Amino acid sequence: MAGGVRIIAVDGPAAAGKGTIARRLADHYGYRFLDTGLLYRAVGARVLDEGLKLADEAAIARMAAGLNPVDLERPDLRSEPIGQMASKVAAMPVVRAALLDFQRRFGREPPGAVLDGRDIGTVIFPDAGAKLFITASPEARARRRLKELREKGIRAIEERVLAEMKERDARDGGREVAPLKPADDALVIDSTDLTPDEVFHRAVSFIDSKGG
Ligand code: C5P
Repeated sequence: MAGGVRIIAVDGPAAAGKGTIARRLADHYGYRFLDTGLLYRAVGARVLDEGLKLADEAAIARMAAGLNPVDLERPDLRSEPIGQMASKVAAMPVVRAALLDFQRRFGREPPGAVLDGRDIGTVIFPDAGAKLFITASPEARARRRLKELREKGIRAIEERVLAEMKERDARDGGREVAPLKPADDALVIDSTDLTPDEVFHRAVSFIDSKGG
């Protein structure tokens, strides 16, 4: 157990390594894990499937409110087109409001939870016991995403991956509601020149220092 810390918030931009670290922290402390990006991706996927227009806010919000855990298991959720649509629906306040409850309910269940996303420490759990903000340069993140894609057998061009990443960063950081930014009390870790082990050890010392 992480001392008195029950909720660990892990925020940061795409492909900064936050998913890897969040999963590892959940294992380490025996906590539940939620990749909140999958919620926005699941909504984005259904908007694409059903050919909905972004102006159709009421229908998209209803869809977001009716999301089930099984919707997060679609195998294509991590694709780039779904990621781009996820970041568009994520800019809609009605969608964020509809997904709030799901995230808070998940976090409150014992024994504790690690949630990774963009606004966990700022909006979803502003009183989380420990908040991390994992970042890396856009180039390093694009290289990591490229490697992941190639490992899955998906052909991709580095310039294109970098351009799409910058586009998504701009949308996520520039939106009015819950923009991507570190909470004032978050530990910011720039993982550009760190190994995953180094990031993990820094995170654990920080969390343990909060829980004591
Ligand atoms: O983390 P991931 O790349 O899967 O997230 C997809 C998109 O969902 C992000 O670009 C962002 O717009 C949105 N998102 C969000 N808030 C979260 C998690 C994801 O706005 N907590």
